[in-house]
Amino acid sequence: MSPTSTPTPTGRLPHLTSRLQGFGTTIFAEMTALAVRHDAVNLGQGFPDFDPPDAVREAAIRAIRDGHNQYAPGSGVPALREAVAEHQRRFWDLDFDPDAEVTVTAGATEAICATLQALCEVGDEVVLFEPYYDSYRASVAMAGAVERVVTLRPPDFAYDPADLEAAITPKTRAVVLNSPHNPTGKVFSRAELEHIAGLCVAHDVLAVTDEVYEHLVYDGAHVPLASLPGMRERTVTISSAGKTFSVTGWKVGWVCAAPALTAAVRTAKQFMTFTNGTPFQHAVAVALRSDDGYFSGLAADYARRRDRLTAGLRAVGFEVFPAGGSYFVCADVRPLGFGDGVEFCRALPKDVGVAAVPTSVFHVDPRRGRSVVRFAFCKTDAVLDEGIRRLGGLSA
Ligand code: PMP
Ligand code: GLN
Repeated sequence: MSPTSTPTPTGRLPHLTSRLQGFGTTIFAEMTALAVRHDAVNLGQGFPDFDPPDAVREAAIRAIRDGHNQYAPGSGVPALREAVAEHQRRFWDLDFDPDAEVTVTAGATEAICATLQALCEVGDEVVLFEPYYDSYRASVAMAGAVERVVTLRPPDFAYDPADLEAAITPKTRAVVLNSPHNPTGKVFSRAELEHIAGLCVAHDVLAVTDEVYEHLVYDGAHVPLASLPGMRERTVTISSAGKTFSVTGWKVGWVCAAPALTAAVRTAKQFMTFTNGTPFQHAVAVALRSDDGYFSGLAADYARRRDRLTAGLRAVGFEVFPAGGSYFVCADVRPLGFGDGVEFCRALPKDVGVAAVPTSVFHVDPRRGRSVVRFAFCKTDAVLDEGIRRLGGLSA
């Protein structure tokens, strides 16, 4: 395979506000469009190619039949807010009042955007770990805030504590933390979480946590930042149903935070979507009450998929970085003779019939992570195997 294209510089869009110039089209949309065009195995965009559990599907159908088809309350249907609070207590020993401290959102994406719009003054600084999930940077920009990035570096995607300490300034409003982490698969260690929490407390900074992969941890354990000393009152904890129940198209997420933070987030959220997906909210309330076996089975199943893809990519010749959680593994393309992940991923669907995602686009400076690409393993075994088989045809 030879790279057939170079990254297209994003031109200035005439009508777009300066805050959003340069954001272009999300890499997920671009790579999925290429996958469709070339009938490629899509190991790019992170969505399962299998259905949610029957009971969860049936709960949505039942909710529609039962007439839950009009606007939900802005904060979310009470049954779901109660189920979220119950889930936080059951798995993470965190107590939230479903009325004053839980808000349902249109996925984690709206939760993050509403939180940053609600909390940031223009010019406030927000610390992001890079590579970051792409919507964080755009949400920071929409809020008129300024990002400060701390780089996670392979092979283990640890950060240098001095980098985080230097990123926090008198203007810092919040640190955004995503663990398990997209795109790297990193699960932040307890020591790292304690370091982050210590800095938030010492500098009176808020934390916004994206825990959408909270149940997809294969090595180690998920530790919500809000469970650490001093963090319960200063953390906005975000998650969603998409990953845990294989319903990424439902877009039901939630925010758990102390009453004053919740009131702020709700103020912004009500004017973004006001509310969404009433029948799906009812179904997620049922799903969150699934028995323990469902959650442990999900993690075991994904650990197996992770191992299958990791072994396959290694056999093809990639340097694969171990992933402790999430849907993703990252790999360096240089052992195969390639240098640039963007060129590699743009050519891959056409040349070998596989889609992946370059991680340089999740860095403020794309020279970082230039040779690292992300593969998703939230796919059936047959699809993973076919992807690996096709990648076996790679040659630089
Ligand atoms: N955060 C992370 C880290 C993600 O990977 C994703 C996408 N899967 C989201 C947020 C978006 O979640 P949702 O689809 O619930 O908006
Ligand atoms: N979260 C998914 C991913 O990281 C896709 C999200 C999206 O398409 N915006 O691949």
